[in-house]
Amino acid sequence: MDAYAPTADATAPLLPLAADARTNLVGLSREELIAAMATIGAPKFRANQLWQWIYNKGATEFEAMTSLSKTFRAELSERFVVQRPETTRDLASIDGTRKWLLKFPDGQEVETVHIPEEDRGTLCVSSQVGCTLTCKFCHTGTQKLVRNLSAAEIVGQVMHARDRLDEWNAGETDRKLTNIVMMGMGEPLYNYDNVSKALRIVMDNEGISLSKRRITLSTAGVVPMIARCGEDLGVNLAISLHAVTDELRDVIVPINKKYPIAQLLDACRTYPGSSNARRITFEYVMLKDVNDSPAEARELVRLLAGIPAKVNLIPFNAWPGAPFDVSTDAAIKVFADIVNAAGYSSPVRRPRGADILAACGQLKSDSIKLRKSELLKREAEAAAAAD
Ligand code: SAH
Repeated sequence: MDAYAPTADATAPLLPLAADARTNLVGLSREELIAAMATIGAPKFRANQLWQWIYNKGATEFEAMTSLSKTFRAELSERFVVQRPETTRDLASIDGTRKWLLKFPDGQEVETVHIPEEDRGTLCVSSQVGCTLTCKFCHTGTQKLVRNLSAAEIVGQVMHARDRLDEWNAGETDRKLTNIVMMGMGEPLYNYDNVSKALRIVMDNEGISLSKRRITLSTAGVVPMIARCGEDLGVNLAISLHAVTDELRDVIVPINKKYPIAQLLDACRTYPGSSNARRITFEYVMLKDVNDSPAEARELVRLLAGIPAKVNLIPFNAWPGAPFDVSTDAAIKVFADIVNAAGYSSPVRRPRGADILAACGQLKSDSIKLRKSELLKREAEAAAAAD
């Protein structure tokens, strides 16, 4: 039994929940969409047309899908919806970062962050409401896991961002959402089925069509799932390393007790698709007097030998009540210089959106853990409503 994995009461809703009895088409795989259309006697090519309207043009209403006949559109509206999560908060940082608090029909909430940069725009997507991992420096880790997100809820974050950024009609050159990082709330490899289903939808080239090279999945180190992620999805991998000894990593990234550093790095060495052109990112949060010494920088270099790697140094982002301080600029520079001199790119990640608590490790929603009985009751109600 994996003590860190979500428990049975942390599962995603059984069905793509809509606010009413209709089924949400967002989050269905292509095959599922074809099957859903078959239930109303519509042929496969109708499903393909719908897919394009939903994921290529961003249509939210069947009424707008003008290549479909009026009667078919009316029929669709009776049975289905194309639904995004509801926005409960929309915050803009002085640096242009946006943070949205999004709410799902069962009342649970997650945060999604958009980070504009000169050459790209990155959407930081959540995979779970809360997290089971309890990394000591991470705000999300102080929130009890509520549940996994469904594929619909993961894709819904991307659709929502495209709506808000007015991205559906944007030309190739002025895109604001060019990259996705699975670095929001939650551990994506503990919700792999839904995350992979969602990413396949996002990568589908008749839809949102983001290349696997523009998607990065970040994990604290769920070792048995790493190879599969590379084989199935081929997305970029990021590892939240943060310590160079098991002794320290056991404390600050507790999943290390289950999958220690050596095992984690072995999985990285054999990650499918990694190469010098596609390096694995190692994230390293800079915690004052905890993990930021020159000796630790040298040990990091030793550990990474043989792995096509780059290192992201993330100055610790504080949150209310956090038990750490950020390293000094001088300590970060010495650390970065050592890693850099060994041939690894080691940029220091300027915090983005810190004024709206949108930076790494600052995400936390007010959702609380539902009792299992309550969760089952809601799922039963949803299932009954969908019949
Ligand atoms: N569970 C996944 C996805 C979360 S990604 C993972 O651990 O990789 C969020 C990234 O921000 C991780 O690298 C995490 O370790 C880092 N992080 C968490 N809290 C932070 C903080 N307070 N300051 C800076 N980085 C933080």
